[in-house]
Parts: sequence; structure tokens; C-alpha cells
Amino acid sequence: MTTVLYIAGTGRSGSTVLAAVLGEVEGVFAAGEVRYLWQRGLVEGRLCGCGVPVAECPLWSAVLATVDASGPTLPPAAMAEVLRRGGRVRHLPRALAGQGRHLGGSVATPVEAALSRLYPAIAAATASRVVVDSSKLPSYAHLIAGLPGIDLRVVHLIRDPRGAAHSWSSRKALADGARRPHMEQMGPLKSAALWDVWNLAAARLLGGRRRYLRLRYEDFVADPAAAVRRILSLVGMDGARPPFDAGGAVNLSPNHMVAGNPDRLRSGPIQLRVDARWRSAMPARDRWVVSAVSAPLLVAYGYPFRTRTAGGLESTVLDRVPVNQGGAARFARRVRRHLHWARSEGVGRLVEEDELNPATKLRVALEKRRWRRAHPRPAGTAMPVYVVGLQRSGTNMLTRGLDRAPEFEVHSENDRVAFDRFLLRSDQTVARIIARSRHRFVLFKPLCDSHRVDALLDHVPSRTPGRAIWVYRDVDGRVRSALSKFGRNNLLVLADIAAGRGAGTWQAQRLPAAAMKEISGFDYRTMTPETAAALFWWVRNSLYFELGLDRRPDVMLASYDDLLSDPRAGMRAICSFLGLAFRPELVAHIAPRAAKRAGLDLDPRVRQLCDQLQDRLDTTLRAQRQGRAA
Ligand SMILES: [Zn+2]
Repeated sequence: MTTVLYIAGTGRSGSTVLAAVLGEVEGVFAAGEVRYLWQRGLVEGRLCGCGVPVAECPLWSAVLATVDASGPTLPPAAMAEVLRRGGRVRHLPRALAGQGRHLGGSVATPVEAALSRLYPAIAAATASRVVVDSSKLPSYAHLIAGLPGIDLRVVHLIRDPRGAAHSWSSRKALADGARRPHMEQMGPLKSAALWDVWNLAAARLLGGRRRYLRLRYEDFVADPAAAVRRILSLVGMDGARPPFDAGGAVNLSPNHMVAGNPDRLRSGPIQLRVDARWRSAMPARDRWVVSAVSAPLLVAYGYPFRTRTAGGLESTVLDRVPVNQGGAARFARRVRRHLHWARSEGVGRLVEEDELNPATKLRVALEKRRWRRAHPRPAGTAMPVYVVGLQRSGTNMLTRGLDRAPEFEVHSENDRVAFDRFLLRSDQTVARIIARSRHRFVLFKPLCDSHRVDALLDHVPSRTPGRAIWVYRDVDGRVRSALSKFGRNNLLVLADIAAGRGAGTWQAQRLPAAAMKEISGFDYRTMTPETAAALFWWVRNSLYFELGLDRRPDVMLASYDDLLSDPRAGMRAICSFLGLAFRPELVAHIAPRAAKRAGLDLDPRVRQLCDQLQDRLDTTLRAQRQGRAA
């Protein structure tokens, strides 16, 4: 018997993350939404969780070869078609009435025969005791429950329908090779109706089983270890350990989840948090519609009928845009929402949302893929390029420009493959990323590791020697930008360092004695956030000289303000440093504008330090330009 743990429920209920977490338990394999293996994986050629098309994934290839070898099968398109027809909503009444397939342990069709061989093949190929299938559809669970050799256990995952509806109404980029750039969207009425139908069907079709567990997404996130323990007990693995560390974080390794939410393509440590954005972002009217349509089940599952709006202002700021509203209004709204995110969700969110347009993202990804096909090159020859400097200094703008060149593979600090909470992962991991790349350049943006860029250049092995670009920005511009994004953060950090509490933070690494002395000489109880942000600018940018980067031919200095005032000239200089042909699309996203240098009111000593350093940076920049021109 193969034990299959089925996650049943509606879309946008957190099933992908639950499956991924379970997949981290020893002996459990997260297979993804197996129902879509044929349609999305084989017919549409979409990506496995491991990042390659399913047909090229070694694991799924081996599994499918076993299934093919052990009996007759249908072509993928035919499998997909039969499964699609069987899952339709209009077939539900028959299934609920106990008709349709359910012969209990026998195989009536070629599709069922193939499925009854598939799950044992998955378990064998992955040497696992339990296969997690997060297909969600209750009718499909009903189908496989009746197959011989399969011991089905069901987790019925339920999420507050207002949270699910809000998620359905928001755009989420697919980026798994699908022809559509986004996951399917639907309005509140439709998603609430679907929530009713699927949950009712799951309860009716599967709820009578002995091996059935109902779990609310909100309870799972509130105490994930307890929820995982209950599930493990459901599959007879009472002794197994939930995969969380003492702080409740889980480290997701790369997986082979087939189909489903694009989140499965991510790996790295995560901290589960309730996604309660709907509480502030969902219009009251939509919330009311969803509550009304799902009222009976809503109450049965223990959710309150009435919900409070989180804060009066937010609900007006974030009301959804009426469909007929013009582009300018939409844009203004997007900006406001962006600012709101920045305030409420912190830096991580902002970095993540920085490239606003998912369509652009997808186009860039496709161009890169096309480039790799057209320019096959052996892995391991890419040049690592480190873009460093201080936060809010234009490194995003530069990185985004270079990202438009398909020669570049880009890892920004929100990329979990290369980064862990904004810090670059180990040298070995970075070396592995470089060695695996089939691009000409692998760009990393390790701003929080800028103080060790010399070590990265010297010690991370790569066949093509690496290069670094140190980006700086006029101090007043940087201070304004930093204050609006990080508030008083620089002040708190410097106060900590001065008080000897900085050990272990990236901000305090490799501080020269002179910098330490300056930092200790100020009174942080009276310092303004502006002065602190300027002092921090001085501390971090001083490293460029302190580390001797100005004397290294493999490090280039670049100025954000220059790039703004003459984007083409600035980008040409960077291209020639990297040996890349310049083309206009690299700067198409930059609107040329003169940099303003309106002086902020700073502490005179800090102003003096910054002025001196700014002069020194500007002088070095000019010298480098002349050196290259000569
Ligand atoms: Zn795979």
C-alpha cells in the first residue's frame, strides 16, 4: 500500500506552503498538484519545483518511465483531458449522490490504471513513506481513494473565505513557464461561491473517512509545529519531527512539486506568517459579499461573520480601482499601495515589489531563456559581478538596467537562492551558482556584504575572474531616500554600535578604527535621523577607500547622480568595464534628470566628513573615467 496524503480544499488557501513544509519531514515527499502533472507539466511544458520543465526533471522522468514500463498508458494530452472532464463542477452532484466511479479497489479505465501505478512509483523513486498530493479538488481525491494499492488520508485545508477571495482578486505572477503571465483571477462573488462548493464537496465526499483531518490555514500558521504533528499522526508517523527550528522558522529545500502556486519554485528559510492583507486592503463591500455568500459554512468553521477594518484610513486608501478608471489614476493608486506596503511590511516587501510590472519580469525571463538557447555555452564560464555600496544609492536602478541584457543572470537580495535575509549565502553556494550558470555574467547585489567585496572577489572561486561595481549617491539624496524607506533605522543602528551592541550585525563589520572613533563621539539621544543617515553614508562609503578598492582594477566606482544626468554615458562606462556591448534598452527605464543637491540641515561635523568623502569619491570617479578614456 502507498500512503497518499491529500490536501483538499479551494485555491489560495495556503496548500502549497503546507505541502512544502510537509515535504521537509524525513520520509515525506511533496509531489505537488499531481492532477495537473499531465496538463501543466507535460502538455504545457511548465516548470517543476526544481526549476526545469517537468519533462526534463530527472525525478519525474524516472517516475513516468516506471509508469509507462509497468502497463498501458495514454498519451499525456488524453490523460489531461479525462482528468479535466472528471473535475468539472457539473459532475459533482453525481459524485455526491454516490454514483460515477466508485467501485472500491478496482480499476475501470486506463487513466485509473495509470494513476494506480503512479503513486507507488513516486514513493519508490523518492524512497518515501508518504506522498503528499496537493491537488485540492475533492472529486480527484474521491477518484484516487478508490484505486487499489492506495491508502488515502485527507487534510481538508480551509482558509477564511475573505482572505482567499482577496488573494483570488490580486494578481500573482506565474513565472513557471505558463503561457499566461498571471495566476487565474476571480471576483469576490465567484470565489465565495467556489469556496462553498469545494468545501462542501470535500466535507461530503471525504469527511466521512476515518483518516480525515480538518485544518484551518489560520491555525496552521499560528502554530505550525502542532498542525504538522497532527498531520503526521494522521499518516501514522507520530514519532517524526516537524521541520521547524526553535524560532518557528523552516528551511525549505529545493523541491520537485509539480504544478500549483509558483511559490513552490522558492526555497530557503521562511517564517510562516498569517497573510492578513485582506483585513486592510479588501473593500468593505467585497468583504460583505463574501461573508454573505459563505455565511453558513463560515460560521460552521468558526470564522466570525463580521470583521473589523484594520484602521480607518487604509480602507479608503486601498479601495480597489474600478475597472473603467484611467491609467493615471491606476498608477497613482499603485504608488500609494506601494508606499503603504513599504510602511506596513518593511524592507523585504519593498525590495520584492520593486520591479512593479510582472509582465516585464516575465518578458525578461523569456528573453533570457531564448538567449541561453541561442548562445549555448558551457556552464562555469560566467563572470561574477558584484554590485555593492550603500542601500538607497541607485543600485536597484543599475541592476534593473543590466537585468535587461539577457547575458545577465541576476540575483538581488530578495532572491532566496543566493541570499538569506539580505545577506549573501556561503561562498560555496555563491560559487555553485556561478558554476551552474549558462549566462555570460552572474550579477549579485550583496549590499549588506559590501564590506567584504574584496574577499568575494579574491576567495569565491570562478573560472572567469569577478568584477565589482561600487555605486554611490550624493549624500543629501541618499539621506532623503533612506529616511522615507527606513525611518530612524540608521540612528538606532549607529547608537547600538556606539554602545558596543553592534557585534554580529552587518553594519558593524570591518569598521576601521577611525570610523569607530567618529561613531563613538556622537550623542545619539540628540542626533537627528537625517544626521544619522548621513553619518551612516560616510561610514559605509569610506569602506571603498579603506578596503583599497580604489586601487583595484577589478572594481569600478559608479555614481548614481551621473547615471541620472546622462544615463547613456554612465551605462556605456559600465559596459566597457564589463566588456559588454552597450545598447539603449539598458537605460530605457531611466528618465534623465539633473540631480538636486539641496543641502539638508546636518550636524556640522557630519557634514564636514561627508563633504570630504564626496569630494574624494568624485575625484576618483573622474580619474577612473580619464584612465579608461586614455
Ligand atoms: Zn523536478
